[in-house]
Amino acid sequence: MNFLSCSPCGTVLGSLPIMMSQPLPMTDSRHSANLLALDWSGMCALVAKLEWRPYRAKQILRWLYQRRISDIEDMTDLSLSNRALLQSIAAIPRSTNVQMRAATDGTKKFLIELSDHLQVESVLIPERDRLTLCVSTQVGCTLDCSFCLTGKMGLKRNLKAHEIVEQVLIVQDQCEEDHPITSLVFMGMGEPLANLEEVSDAIVRLTDQAWGVGISPRRITLSTAGLAPRLKEVVPLGVNLAISLNATTNEQRNVLMPAINKLHPLSQLLKACRNYPLKTGRHLTFEYVLLAGVNDSLEDAKRLPKLLQGIPCKINLIPFNEFAGSEYKRPSQEVIDQFQVVLRRAGYFVFVRKSRGRDVLGACGQLGDLQA
Ligand code: SAH
Repeated sequence: MNFLSCSPCGTVLGSLPIMMSQPLPMTDSRHSANLLALDWSGMCALVAKLEWRPYRAKQILRWLYQRRISDIEDMTDLSLSNRALLQSIAAIPRSTNVQMRAATDGTKKFLIELSDHLQVESVLIPERDRLTLCVSTQVGCTLDCSFCLTGKMGLKRNLKAHEIVEQVLIVQDQCEEDHPITSLVFMGMGEPLANLEEVSDAIVRLTDQAWGVGISPRRITLSTAGLAPRLKEVVPLGVNLAISLNATTNEQRNVLMPAINKLHPLSQLLKACRNYPLKTGRHLTFEYVLLAGVNDSLEDAKRLPKLLQGIPCKINLIPFNEFAGSEYKRPSQEVIDQFQVVLRRAGYFVFVRKSRGRDVLGACGQLGDLQA
């Protein structure tokens, strides 16, 4: 059985027939506009071109993002003739090929085929009081972090905004009616800040209450390997920011995350974090993948609080999720606990992330093996 790897989700699914939209606004079958590829202003322009009243733009977007229809025929507040007119120039192409793999812990990994036959992975993680979807932002990844399976694929391409949003629409369609996705983490395949224009556009569509999916930005977390100069561009989005630190010295980080750390070494990254304008009561999250014998020593645990001094933050420890061919190992529970204790004693909120969906390669760093 094939398994894709993405970040933190995973499970066993059958094939779910859906149709994927094209990265370009035109669909190839009828040379018509892809409504999902239009942002707010694009939709307003289309409505103006049709010489319809401006409020129609919001009406159509609601059908796309709130009722998640895939057929213009279903837009019942448009007259039959207006529907026919819209159908003559536009379509809602959704993915035709979606597979799901269900893990024993309830996590579900979705493999979504794009219009160019590449695949992306999204992972749905049910918890008692929330339903989190981990979404991908690139096919493969720009970066080459040595502990991450996606990094081994290289970058195939950036996702378009609508391909990011569609992951949410497709997975929500597979959830029960009364189980809305409550939280999003941009921790799937790819480096979100290397595709920030499309990611930002997607976040607008995902958060808009009037016509978008309507998820609160406070329930969205964007995770970056550390493109220091771009951190400030996340501020206007209002979402939470997580930084994958993963090492306490440049020497270590150059081995674990070579591409990013050579571009933006630790001091530059931490300076950008210190300068990140946080609203009262909000904090950054630092992620730290624990690799046995590599970055899990007592010295590391003591250095980490010094590096983070003065930054309002919490720390998420992620015990390494193993995959075939990786040289790294997960530390023992004792080492993980000890690392956490040292950080807690230094005054930090520290959580050890549960590895969800590991049996379907849906956990952090396990996405992408099908496409390697
Ligand atoms: N590129 C972004 C988001 C994708 S990775 C980033 O680097 O933040 C999401 C998280 O999974 C990161 O914190 C990353 O360090 C972690 N991760 C990657 N591979 C892992 C693995 N094999 N085991 C555990 N965590 C991993």
